[in-house]
Amino acid sequence: MNRILKATLAVALLGSAAAHAQEPQVLNLYSARHYYTDEALYNDFTKQTGIVIKRLELKDEALLERLRNEGPRSPADVVLLVDAARLASAQEQGLFQPVKSKILSDRIPAQYTGQDGLWYAFSARSRAIVYNKDTVKPEEVQSYEDLAKPAMKGKVCTRSGSHPYMLSLLSGMIANIGEKKATEWAAGVVANMARAPKGGDTDQIKAVASGECGVALTNTYYWVRMVNSDKQEDKDVVSKVGFIWPNQKTTGAHMNVSGGAVAAYAPNKAAAVKFLEYLASDSAQQYFANGNNEWPTAKGVKTNNPGLEALGPYKADVTPAKTLAANTALSQRIMDKVGYK
Ligand code: FE
Repeated sequence: MNRILKATLAVALLGSAAAHAQEPQVLNLYSARHYYTDEALYNDFTKQTGIVIKRLELKDEALLERLRNEGPRSPADVVLLVDAARLASAQEQGLFQPVKSKILSDRIPAQYTGQDGLWYAFSARSRAIVYNKDTVKPEEVQSYEDLAKPAMKGKVCTRSGSHPYMLSLLSGMIANIGEKKATEWAAGVVANMARAPKGGDTDQIKAVASGECGVALTNTYYWVRMVNSDKQEDKDVVSKVGFIWPNQKTTGAHMNVSGGAVAAYAPNKAAAVKFLEYLASDSAQQYFANGNNEWPTAKGVKTNNPGLEALGPYKADVTPAKTLAANTALSQRIMDKVGYK
């Protein structure tokens, strides 16, 4: 090589190295969460690590479809999803890769860790009972099982039986009382319905307040959001509705999760693991959970949410989220079998 060419090459190499150093490290985040407070969380991660987050927000189903379609060419590094049933479906479709991290395995309890470290839950929510104070006595609806009893004939409302929140609840019941009794329960709820399933959890709370339904199921954050609302119409709804922590004398209240995973073909795997570890840190945990009135999952992190504290102490079901995930397909078959639309 002549001297001039060598010098040119050296300059070119130096130039490319310099350009590389200036290029910020990037993390592609596919998120089904869309809470204002998450924004601050992502900015804080960038401040701490210098890694810039490029975010794609889609609803859960659309997000999974996108990952499937992109396949090995997907730029996704981290995937954030809501509900064990959806984490299960993504896991089954091979959209995640396992992560081994001492920080994650030390901080996130086994109850909230996916099979083989395929995903980690960063916040928890429960599924509670709400009832109309005029038409239903609280002692009649102390458990999920009570919703299937003859006393609740024509009074029960829920969202669709195919919705992940209902599938995961049934998955928990399969774990606790077995497939046969869980099937009888689902059939019993169908027989007790005040109306065909429709709407989201907030719609069920409103229908309970209006008297159309006597009793319904809701994730806790929808209830807390309504309790905290300044709107007069929400205050009116809340005044007519009672809240019950279910199954306090037996299995405890069903717990579900919102969680994250490293995408199967993550181009920036190291940054992806760093981000999950960051989500497990004390401050990120409080932010992540609080933004949607949820409980932090990491060990030793306390909730800082007065709305959740106001629900009072409760016994939580300890069924692992990975068991809920594993039962999801069976739950869907049971829902179909008993005609839970
Ligand atoms: Fe929700």
